[in-house]
Amino acid sequence: MSYRSIIAGADADQPDVAAATTAAAEAFAGYRATTPDARADFLEAAAAEIEAAREEIVEAAVAESHLPEGRISGEVGRTTGQLKMFAGVVRRGDHLGVRIDPALPDRTPLPRADIRQRHIPLGPVAVFGASNFPLAFSTAGGDTASALAAGCPVVVKGHPAHPLTGYLVAQAITRAVEKAGLHAGTFSFLLDTDPQTGIELGQTLVTDPRIKAVGFTGSRGGGLAIVAAAATRPEPIPVYAEMSSINPVVVLPGALENDTDALATAYVGSLTLGSGQFCTNPGLLFLPTGEAGDAFLAAAGRATAEAVGTTMLTSGIASAYEKGTAALREVDGVTVVGEGTPGDTDAPAPQLVEAVRLDGVTDEVFGASGVVVRYDSVEELLPSLDSLEGQLTATVHATDADNEAAARVVGALELKAGRILFNGWPTGVEVGHAMVHGGPFPATSDSRSTSVGSLAIERFQRPVAYQDVPAALLPEAVRDDNPWQLVRRIDGELQLP
Ligand code: NAP
Repeated sequence: MSYRSIIAGADADQPDVAAATTAAAEAFAGYRATTPDARADFLEAAAAEIEAAREEIVEAAVAESHLPEGRISGEVGRTTGQLKMFAGVVRRGDHLGVRIDPALPDRTPLPRADIRQRHIPLGPVAVFGASNFPLAFSTAGGDTASALAAGCPVVVKGHPAHPLTGYLVAQAITRAVEKAGLHAGTFSFLLDTDPQTGIELGQTLVTDPRIKAVGFTGSRGGGLAIVAAAATRPEPIPVYAEMSSINPVVVLPGALENDTDALATAYVGSLTLGSGQFCTNPGLLFLPTGEAGDAFLAAAGRATAEAVGTTMLTSGIASAYEKGTAALREVDGVTVVGEGTPGDTDAPAPQLVEAVRLDGVTDEVFGASGVVVRYDSVEELLPSLDSLEGQLTATVHATDADNEAAARVVGALELKAGRILFNGWPTGVEVGHAMVHGGPFPATSDSRSTSVGSLAIERFQRPVAYQDVPAALLPEAVRDDNPWQLVRRIDGELQLP
């Protein structure tokens, strides 16, 4: 099988970018005009259709991704939960961001016009599914859910690492589109499992003039290629690419006064979870010098040595991991602290190394590969943190006794990462309203938003102000009678309906 696509308005069972984007453009006018309730009903129906097909989706995803059934089953719940969360956002109208500055005709020296603002959707969005979350970051993942919630038709470029999973999920969404009576172009799924033409498909999609924004999760090289393609279009468009992150962990001295063995084991647990195939994998750890740090390092080495590799998502990802870990071992000043055992096919051994400096060890090695760097003092640590590239997460392990140092560390880390967490591990991202899964480059191509959580919807909207527009012509969201019962900012003050 090389193709399994669902394209509105085309009967061919092969990718046809123009058919999908033309249909998406046709669908846009009707879809963006849906009421909050109708759009939310559709998102909930998509979740229900995925849930109804859960068994076959789980079976396909387990076979294609080599991830365990429990993890995949949880991902189905996360995927449908995201769709339902966005249904709630749309029903409340949070995303419309309504602001009304009423006219002040008697203001001197000049009267003020009546100005009303709301957010509108950008237009058709291209979504590149990720390999490492075949459900929650793929066909119906956070990018698709947030774009559909914003009112944007979506064209998914399915990931060739899980073609059947993607197709089954696409079928489920298509059933929801049909049942909701929406235009078929509201959602299309394009897939090409040939590596050569697959890249061409992606490039054609991003440069198609009907596409108005892109969501991407994957490699730094792939993300940058898509950003470049979007920027050189006659009409450049925003690309929200989530790419690469090594998610630094800072262990402060107080944290080593408790059970260092338990802390080290928990660290290696997070590092090796799911073969380390998480964008939030903690790949770099700063550890104090001294006896307690030595004990932590020895325990982490032992835990790594006990870890067994599990089959990675694709042979390509496994061989990239092997190359990356071999290259790390060659860096001057790097010593191996612990090496696990390889598993069956494409299941390379987890690895933990110690490096005397950061040079050459800060590129993402996707998989269960960790680097430990020691530090003598916060004064020595802070410049190292300043030198890091942008990150999705930064973790601090500390006790109250570390508060003075921790405050300085947080001050440095918040300039680097989208999420700072204390005394936990970054793998595992809560989907909610306060979550940020983003960060400065190269974690993402645009640090001003998030790809997880309800704020993700803002990536696919823009504000429009309506000045002195006659009442009869105003959109519902900004009318005086507030027919959608929205929370609005009137003259700067939040007002409940
Ligand atoms: P990828 O190679 O970046 O591919 C992701 C998607 O982008 C695929 O659909 C791919 O299409 C497409 N693509 C890649 N290069 C393109 C280009 N130049 N123009 C247009 N489309 C392009 O990522 P992957 O296959 O999922 O995994 C490979 C590596 O990505 C991993 O080893 C890891 O380093 C990294 N990764 C990082 C994260 C993270 O969250 N940070 C997640 C997953 C993967 P085709 O496959 O059809 O070519």
